[in-house]
Amino acid sequence: MAQKSKLVQTDKFVTHAHCPNCKDKVEVGSRYAHGDQMQCGNCSAGLKVVRQGNSLRLLIADLTPLREELKALNKRIFDVDAELARAKASFGIGVNGFGVGVLYVLVKVALEEQVIDRTMIAIAVLISLVVGVLLEGANYLFLTKHRQMSELADEIASLRVEAKGLQQKIKESSR
Ligand SMILES: [Zn+2]
Repeated sequence: MAQKSKLVQTDKFVTHAHCPNCKDKVEVGSRYAHGDQMQCGNCSAGLKVVRQGNSLRLLIADLTPLREELKALNKRIFDVDAELARAKASFGIGVNGFGVGVLYVLVKVALEEQVIDRTMIAIAVLISLVVGVLLEGANYLFLTKHRQMSELADEIASLRVEAKGLQQKIKESSR
């Protein structure tokens, strides 16, 4: 607030422009000429005053921090993308491996255990138990992995939105 009301008597008139960084309304006194620098009272960004005829615009004075931030964001997107690709790859292997295992058990039972006796029933129960446990485990892994993948995808999406906002700001102040 102190920043905003810091208008001095040499300001014959005051106009407003939006801060390109935080979009807040900034009061620009007439003592600020074209090319002068000021600070946004809301986000403290250094701003450059651009006057063209009667129009007034504010640009971000130093784009270096924004560019650095964008670079770091893009690196993070790249890393999370790679992590997601890895998760997807191992996800496929796990599911296929499990499918092959089940098939092996089924084929073995069908081909080798033709006669139904006590031993066969005992084995069948055991197999059911083991397969049940495996299914539970696979289901748990599936859900965990699935959740991990959707979390990574969500993170990428929000990082992209952030990066887009930054790019927009940089573009607006580069004109
Ligand atoms: Zn601002």
